Amino acid sequence: MQSMRWSAYYTAAWCAGVSILALSVFLVWKQRQEGSDIARVSVVNTAEVLATQVESSLDLADALLQSVGRRYRGDARRGSADSAQLAEEVRMEVQSYQPVSRVGMVNSNGQTVFNTALRTPFAQRIDASNLDYFQRARAGEKSLIYTEPLRSDATGEWTLTLARRVESKQGVFLGVVYATIPVRAIGKVFAHVGVGAQGSINMRTAALAQVVRCPELPGANSDIGNRNVSQTIQDLMRSKPGQTLYVYKAVAPIDSVERMYAYQKFDHSPFWMNVGRATADFDTAWRQTAVLLAALTLAMSAFLVWGARRLTRQHRDLEHRLREQSLAKRALHDSEQRFRRLFHDSPVALCVVTEAGVLTDRNRRFNLLFGYSPQELRTIDDWWRLAYPNADYRTEVLQSWNSAVASSVRDNTDIASIEYQVTCRNGGERTILISGLILGDGILATFVDITDRKMLEDGLVKLNAELEARVANRTAELQRSNRELEDFAYIASHDLKEPLRGLHNYASFLQEDYADKLDDAGKNYLERMQRLVERLTALIDGLLAYSRLGSVDLLRDAVAVDSVVDGVCQDLHVFLREHGVVLVRATPLPTIQCNALRVREVFQNLITNAAKYNDKPDKRVEIGCREGPVPVFYVRDNGIGIPAQHHEAIFRIFKRLHEQRKYGGGTGVGLTIVKKIIERHGGHIWLESVPNEGSTFYFTLSENP
Ligand code: ADP
Repeated sequence: MQSMRWSAYYTAAWCAGVSILALSVFLVWKQRQEGSDIARVSVVNTAEVLATQVESSLDLADALLQSVGRRYRGDARRGSADSAQLAEEVRMEVQSYQPVSRVGMVNSNGQTVFNTALRTPFAQRIDASNLDYFQRARAGEKSLIYTEPLRSDATGEWTLTLARRVESKQGVFLGVVYATIPVRAIGKVFAHVGVGAQGSINMRTAALAQVVRCPELPGANSDIGNRNVSQTIQDLMRSKPGQTLYVYKAVAPIDSVERMYAYQKFDHSPFWMNVGRATADFDTAWRQTAVLLAALTLAMSAFLVWGARRLTRQHRDLEHRLREQSLAKRALHDSEQRFRRLFHDSPVALCVVTEAGVLTDRNRRFNLLFGYSPQELRTIDDWWRLAYPNADYRTEVLQSWNSAVASSVRDNTDIASIEYQVTCRNGGERTILISGLILGDGILATFVDITDRKMLEDGLVKLNAELEARVANRTAELQRSNRELEDFAYIASHDLKEPLRGLHNYASFLQEDYADKLDDAGKNYLERMQRLVERLTALIDGLLAYSRLGSVDLLRDAVAVDSVVDGVCQDLHVFLREHGVVLVRATPLPTIQCNALRVREVFQNLITNAAKYNDKPDKRVEIGCREGPVPVFYVRDNGIGIPAQHHEAIFRIFKRLHEQRKYGGGTGVGLTIVKKIIERHGGHIWLESVPNEGSTFYFTLSENP
């Protein structure tokens, strides 16, 4: 379809091109035809005019001959044939009979009586008795006799001779009067006639022997008297005999030039006037026109094809644009449809309000949610009135909505969501989150019903509050029971220590006072009992110390931790030396808010453990602090390390990872106390450890900021 339309332009262009070409060809043909017609008319007219002109000259010459003949007859009748006088008269007359050059008289014996070209009387009479015209005249030919062109023996010039029989009234042959016309003289007449550069004028006898040709041609072909004519005219004269005019086109055998020829027969003389115009002379105009028109046609065709191409391209562009436009239109339509569906099926209530305040559109959800019919709710004012029946609240809503719209227009944003209590058609109130979108010519308002969510939220808040109250109660209960437990532990351990001391004392008494009464086994049991009592005491002391921690308020001061550690190192100096431990103070320690005594306990415990749980020959304990939002203290050793699964357990009370006597013994209370002190400061403790490589205990002494 498309290509058909495209090709239509080309077809039109080609048709136009071909039409122009045809028109051009026609014009050229016409011009050529006209040229040919003009040439035809020209040769015909020229031939006719020249024939008439030459013939009238010949008629004049004939008139002269007749006049001379009459006078000769008169002389002959009178018997005084004074040819000398006649000759003199005629000589004078001849001059006014152009192109006749001379007139002569031959008597009945064939002897020349006079010749105007020669002086008379002749020294010797010229014999003309064997000349053709004399014999024909003597034989009785009464009309004018024309000879074939002859070359004069005397002058060497070509001439045409006209002769007439002179006879007495009784018809007795008296002689012949003749006139000689040099063919060149006739040719002179032709020389002034314009027949084009290569045109030709020929006068031929009835037998088609050339009398005169203009222009003269050099060479054999120019011979006067030749019968060298084209086959065309020979054929024409043969096929259409008796015509006085033949017009035709032929190539002249004499000079091989193509010409348009007219052969005009003389009216009453035995001659043909032949005028030819060369095709090349009259044919050039149409050739120039042809070249011009061809160029024009070519240019026009090129222009038309160019135009067609341009049109085709424009057409294609237009089609393309139209297609795109229709696609865009369809896309717009689809999108509009989608928007409509989206609008109407949206789970959110929507309505469109124009700038004039008319509610043009509302979706299903809107109708369902509020229940107002379109008739009730035509304008935004209807909405304000129905949805907010309380005048005070309505004023409040109007203010907040208008300011939300104003700031949305100002900031080029959506209208911010605001919560409103909306009264529905059934009188019920719902909590609605209203927001909007400024469109070109109005507002698309959205209504999200959050009544249920609100209720849920309220319930949740209440539940939370209840939960918090319950947690607070439980915590208080727990704290109380913890305190009671701590009190109990304190009282219990305190009270336990009393009988234990007794047990220890009595065991000592037994050992001191009854040593000799006890055998070795008894002594051994007693020793064991004493060790157990000591251990129990130590355990109870630990418990006591632990429980005491909970009951005492933690007082804090700005404490230079460095000096606290200095004190610990001093206290442990001997212990560390005995264990062969090198103590490294890696970084300076900061001054922080804490309880100096308790922090001292922490460092003492950790450093002691670091020294105790180490089986390396060069024991090393490093103390330092990593600065940060909260300083992180650390105590690092290259000791036995702690497997990962015990990293929590070691902080439990009485938890030890080794048998009682190994690594210098212990109660398993130290780290529990350390943890409690740190937690009471608001900090926490953790460790990194690789078995057989060492452990690092990290701790902070305040809450994270
Ligand atoms: P103890 O009185 O037994 O030292 P702790 O509460 O101080 O009690 O330590 C609990 C247990 O944690 C120890 O018995 C020991 O097994 C392990 N422990 C503590 N510190 C280290 C340490 N630096 N390297 C290896 N093990 C340790």
